[in-house]
Amino acid sequence: MARRNGRTTAARIATVVNWLECRGYTVVFERGLESQIHPKEPKFEENKTTKREVWIDSAPSLECQLHTLLHEAGHYIVESRKNYLEKYAYGYPVVGTRKAKTVMHWVHLVGEEFEAWEEGLNLARRLEIPIRKPVYERHRCPALMSYMRKAIEKRDGGSPTAAEVRSPPMIELYWLDDMRPAPEGWIWIHNAQEAFRLLELHASTGHSGNTVWSFDHDLGDENEPTGYDVAQWIEERTHTDSSYDPPRILIHTANPVGRENLRRCADSVKRAVLARS
Ligand SMILES: [Zn+2]
Repeated sequence: MARRNGRTTAARIATVVNWLECRGYTVVFERGLESQIHPKEPKFEENKTTKREVWIDSAPSLECQLHTLLHEAGHYIVESRKNYLEKYAYGYPVVGTRKAKTVMHWVHLVGEEFEAWEEGLNLARRLEIPIRKPVYERHRCPALMSYMRKAIEKRDGGSPTAAEVRSPPMIELYWLDDMRPAPEGWIWIHNAQEAFRLLELHASTGHSGNTVWSFDHDLGDENEPTGYDVAQWIEERTHTDSSYDPPRILIHTANPVGRENLRRCADSVKRAVLARS
């Protein structure tokens, strides 16, 4: 069995970092960071275009950092699965979302945590990183326990807390554009796939109505779905699902034909909502 000195552990960390980098992530090690995987909100200005970050607290031992890193990679694996929304739609909504603190939310969250730790172990196996199981457990169990404790402390039935009643719902701004960076305060969505995934998620968690989407028309090469395709998704959903509260649609495309199509779509969405009442 390989020696477990600092150097080998560092090499193993590098293997997982490399695995994440191949998937578009930047891994940030810093003392005191709250370890997490961060798909939307970059910590550093210069990483605005990178958008995918994993933060790891570098204070604990290297072995603990390795386990945490595997766990965060496990989150990526869990989230990338097709059945993710079905399984955990109420668990981790998009960054910036005010979560509905229902029983379902907490159960989904805890379930996802368990699975991410499990996937971390599977990933270690695939990358041929030996893991000392008892040490992994020493890191995994308290982390899971803290989630369970948090879940149990929460109130049942999703009744809002006093603080939630006081603060109005947060409006999220989404900037759909393949090239132009999102203005300050907007979350940059680079392509239609990412947009569809989010719209689907927002529809299932019922907070689409608290979102604003600003549309570009062309998103990459001509085989890619356009902003118009994304807007049509909203249009169709609004017409077919009366419980769907559509996002507010803004248009920033420079393409005149695209603009006209998007405008038509936005008007159709408005009409569908008006026709309901
Ligand atoms: Zn986690």
